[in-house]
Amino acid sequence: MGKRIVVIGGGPGGYAAAIKAAQLGAQVTLAEAAQVGGTCLNVGCIPTKALLHTGEFYRKVAMNAVAGVKTVGAFLDWPAVQQHKEKIVGKLTGGVAALLRHNGVKVISESASLLPDRKVRIGNEILETDAVILATGSVNTDLRFPGSDLYGVIDSTKALSLDEVPKSMVIVGGGVIGVEFATLFNAVGTKVSIIELLPEILPPVDVEIAGFLHETLMENGVQLYTGAKLTGVEKSEDVLTVGFEQNGETRQVTAEKVLVAVGRRPRTAGLGLEALGIKLTRGAIDVDDYFRTNAPAVYAVGDCNGRIMLAHAAMAQGVAAAEHIMGAKPHYDPKIVPSCVYSSPEIACVGMTEKQAKESGIDYSVGSFNLGGNGKSLIDDAGGGYIKIIADKTLGEVLGIHMIGSRVTEIIAEAALCMNMEGTVEDIVNTVHAHPTVSEAVCEAAMSVFGKSIHG
Ligand code: FAD
Repeated sequence: MGKRIVVIGGGPGGYAAAIKAAQLGAQVTLAEAAQVGGTCLNVGCIPTKALLHTGEFYRKVAMNAVAGVKTVGAFLDWPAVQQHKEKIVGKLTGGVAALLRHNGVKVISESASLLPDRKVRIGNEILETDAVILATGSVNTDLRFPGSDLYGVIDSTKALSLDEVPKSMVIVGGGVIGVEFATLFNAVGTKVSIIELLPEILPPVDVEIAGFLHETLMENGVQLYTGAKLTGVEKSEDVLTVGFEQNGETRQVTAEKVLVAVGRRPRTAGLGLEALGIKLTRGAIDVDDYFRTNAPAVYAVGDCNGRIMLAHAAMAQGVAAAEHIMGAKPHYDPKIVPSCVYSSPEIACVGMTEKQAKESGIDYSVGSFNLGGNGKSLIDDAGGGYIKIIADKTLGEVLGIHMIGSRVTEIIAEAALCMNMEGTVEDIVNTVHAHPTVSEAVCEAAMSVFGKSIHG
């Protein structure tokens, strides 16, 4: 009999761990309290991107922004847009359930918690295990402020299934989730304002790239208030008035909906962590490089360990934990995890920003290429952008690639692959890139690190 592994949580971290462990010969049980697919498939990555895709298409058509295509009275059938989104979610969650079944993973649709002596409670059942993988994900940070309970003050989950397109929306938080919802609702005609506490939106992103998107959002009519602190919300009839302080002044903006998107926090309540003495830091489960907690044979992957709160990081961690339990050699490098923002234009980054390179004292060089000189980007008419490469000055090793522009989320894997192989800018330059593609611009940016690009 193979090792008995229980996975708690069926999101990207949990289902990937369960499938990998089963493929390596374990006897796997997965407990999922809600829906397999987790946040990502049900109320995160997939439904947002489905709506963003339709929103962007509608914006282009309605504004006659596609060269040579003229429309009269373009109309957005919002219930149909919602149905399309639900159909995609249903297909993917059904697909995950089928994958689990085909790999022999037993799924129990119940909440689970840890018990001493390597036991787990799933619903009313108690299971003996050889190892447990916690993959319980995260929940929206519940920011409390005067008026936070008012009708019309919503979180990202609610924002995904509104009955109607709101006329106006204030988004509290200019991080990835806030910016993606701003892009979506701006595209479908909502008057959008963002209130961000920090001096710039998208704090971890390269400042020039975040600045480029800031300008683009403003050109598209989004009101951005940065360095602004929310003070509270008041309601009068159907209007919400959002109060905030900016540059020492008290200001107000009104809206039909207020979306609070100030981040997510690990979900750990009710798991029985305290009884096992499992350590937490700022609410996240402490793990080592193999995702082991301090309790024997208890691992924690994905959002619940608070390391990199992204679906692909959760999946890679789940696979690595399963491999470690099963005696295989995991390969997971947290320094080479790409991150994307599905704004318009898109943002995609991997590795060090220029700021991080500077702060770490590395001798680096920077190359860049403006997408104004890239044929595919011009054909896409996606609002320009550029690609920036940070490389070691002596060896030419690629340390980071940061992009804003059309389809860049599809080409960031080239950058990650290059970094994973400890590739250099020369390796990129010596790789013939197909024409016309946006990826050609990566090659041009690489050329410009130590010399000149052909088209720059
Ligand atoms: P989750 O997906 O949260 O899954 C955890 C699962 O565990 C849930 O299904 C939950 O029901 C279950 N569970 C919890 N406790 C128990 C228990 N005690 N017993 C049984 N089951 C339990 N990331 C990206 O990479 N790209 C994106 O484009 C992206 N967009 C996002 C958009 C939004 C609006 C949001 C909110 C998030 C987005 N994310 C995105 C983040 C991504 O969704 C998460 O990083 C990812 O889902 C984390 O996976 P996970 O497996 O750790 O947890």
